[in-house]
Amino acid sequence: MHDAMTQADRRIIDGKAVAAQMVEACARDAEVMQSKFGVRPGLAVVLVGDNPASQVYVRNKARETEAAGMASFKHVLPADTAQAALLKLVTDLNADPDVDGILVQLPLPSHIDAQAVIDAIDPDKDVDGFHYANAGKLSIGRDALVPCTPMGCMHLIRGRHRDLAGLHAVVLGRSNIVGKPMAQLLLQADCTVTMAHSRTRDLPALCRTADILVAAVGRPEMVRGDWIKPGATVIDVGINRIGLPNGKSRLVGDVAFAESLAVAGAITPVPGGVGPMTIAGLLSNTIRACKRRRRLLD
Ligand code: NDP
Repeated sequence: MHDAMTQADRRIIDGKAVAAQMVEACARDAEVMQSKFGVRPGLAVVLVGDNPASQVYVRNKARETEAAGMASFKHVLPADTAQAALLKLVTDLNADPDVDGILVQLPLPSHIDAQAVIDAIDPDKDVDGFHYANAGKLSIGRDALVPCTPMGCMHLIRGRHRDLAGLHAVVLGRSNIVGKPMAQLLLQADCTVTMAHSRTRDLPALCRTADILVAAVGRPEMVRGDWIKPGATVIDVGINRIGLPNGKSRLVGDVAFAESLAVAGAITPVPGGVGPMTIAGLLSNTIRACKRRRRLLD
């Protein structure tokens, strides 16, 4: 049979396809939980205000949750919602037996202390994995709900490497939601991990030593092709919208894709790489939270 796939195609990691498999597995799990235990895993998503990007994210999360046979509870509050009212909603969701996972869409309006809201979520329902209890458990290697994006990245990396032990992983970015948990997961997989950030010296030279390079900086196409070690696995978390001369815009990652594809052993595109894995990770965390909370065995 004629194989139309080129060498370059094979190096592109198809996050959409991997995420679809993960969502399918979640849907099968949800079906079994319904038929065996009469339980429907439920995810509550809270949106405050009318940030257009957040509206799209929340709509997609609700749609995918329902498509996987889970219950979706959407709470949309006006931009001027008082912090106390939001905390009251979180407390109610914590106590609601039908809710297994709670996600408060970030960013929140500036008058609300996002950290206080995250701290108020029951750690066992914290499907974003942002609560300090989950961050702490992850860092000491205990059973934790892991942030969805790094979890998705890890899934893609494992798809390309049977054994990660001893590989040098460089993580660009040290945010609490991507960089730090990503580094923890790679460390747990026995990689030798270097975390880089805006104060790191000679980033190109450091990146050239990476067998696995994860870029999560939010700088369009900052990582150039000549920063990549030949054969390295490159995971591009960045989502940046850039304007085009014709007045339109397009999404690019933190990695210059075409020139890096020529050097890398495997690379995620933007869009279609890490992005779809984030929602798949969220569904997977909701199933996990449901099983743990309701003490359902695998
Ligand atoms: P943050 O802005 O919270 O963190 C960015 C990190 O990058 C910081 O640690 C910062 O360093 C570092 N950084 C910034 N500029 C440079 C530089 N020139 N050189 C080296 N390091 C630098 O971003 P997030 O972690 O929240 O997100 C990162 C990117 O990932 C964004 O594009 C975001 O849109 C995307 N994203 C994508 C998701 C997905 O589903 N695919 C999910 C979440 C995020 P310092 O700490 O020193 O300031």
